[in-house]
Amino acid sequence: MILLSAPNISGNEWKYVKECLDTEWVSSVGSFVNDFEKSVSDFTKSKYAVACSSGTSALHISLIVSGIKKGDYVIVPNITFIASANSIKYLNANPIFIDVNQDDWQMDLDLLSDFLEKNTYKKNNLSYYKKNHKVIRAIMAVHILGNICDMDKLSYISSKYNIKIIEDASESLGSYYNGKHSGTFGEIGVFSFNGNKIITSGGGGMIVTNNLKLSSRAKHITTQAKAHNFEYFHDEVGFNYRLVNPLAAIGLAQMENLNKFIKIKQKIDSIYRKNLNKIGDIKFQKISKNVNHNSWLFTFMTKKKDLLLKKLNSLKIQSRPLWIPMNRLPIYEKDLYVNNNDISNKIYQKCISIPSSSNLKDDQIQFILKSIKNEYL
Ligand SMILES: *Cc1c(COP(=O)(O)O)cnc(C)c1O
Repeated sequence: MILLSAPNISGNEWKYVKECLDTEWVSSVGSFVNDFEKSVSDFTKSKYAVACSSGTSALHISLIVSGIKKGDYVIVPNITFIASANSIKYLNANPIFIDVNQDDWQMDLDLLSDFLEKNTYKKNNLSYYKKNHKVIRAIMAVHILGNICDMDKLSYISSKYNIKIIEDASESLGSYYNGKHSGTFGEIGVFSFNGNKIITSGGGGMIVTNNLKLSSRAKHITTQAKAHNFEYFHDEVGFNYRLVNPLAAIGLAQMENLNKFIKIKQKIDSIYRKNLNKIGDIKFQKISKNVNHNSWLFTFMTKKKDLLLKKLNSLKIQSRPLWIPMNRLPIYEKDLYVNNNDISNKIYQKCISIPSSSNLKDDQIQFILKSIKNEYL
């Protein structure tokens, strides 16, 4: 099987994990957690980083420390992985799903701007939804497939309506917008180290921020909110969302190879683009000139999506559809979905992701390309 997005374990992973086992520092205290946090904060040029047990838990905590409360609204794109929306629901807050752009498949910011203009009012410098007077507390920008939203436009909207940006940068570690790393535009950003991401710790996530208060509180509530170093005095309802030392050890070793992985993925991306350009009705995700893209997962649009999915998987080339749009899931169908033409569904109907692992071999790439092209002869 040629895997879609497989881990690439080729650096110091064994050595660092062995060190954990040899020293018996296998739990949540240990130097690798700190070192992993430091490597991610250095890489992204954020002041602080807080390791978590998953990207999902990192999102959950980010929303809590950003002050999202029961009944608040959080804006989120209609095409994303479920964890973005779920993290909002964990707080009994509600998502407002915004349809996406035809070209880059990210949140349609003109649509967002238009929605806010017509449907909100300001009071005490906060934006409220006219229909029920609930506050719109945050915009969760999700940089899907490693691409980055138009952050200039989004920052403008965010300051105009005083709605803070929280970035779900789970897929965009190593992606930059005008030279600035994804996840560092708003007050807080989140990365995931799930097995399919550009680097992995087996499972894990990271919160980055330049705000000391937010990072301290995030660390505090991911570790049971224990407020006394001896007595079991907990000053709020915390979580056990820590990352354990052996997983941080894997993550640190992976960080050492991140730049190498990005280069390989960018090369795979350019080979795919060059060879599939003008084949049938194939269309690629548009990457803006401002974006330096980590090329995490190669995905394209075609009317032949279903046929290709069947064909490629039968040839043991692991291929996947894009996520079902949030508004189409029964758990979210009653939530607000802002759209004009339901572009989300058109994109979902046509998108297919193909193997993009950093350990993909040249002959595998050629086999994948040949198998795709065969369907357009
Ligand atoms: C992977 C991913 C997450 C969640 O990460 P986990 O580490 O699997 O919990 C959240 N959002 C997006 C967009 C993702 O791709």
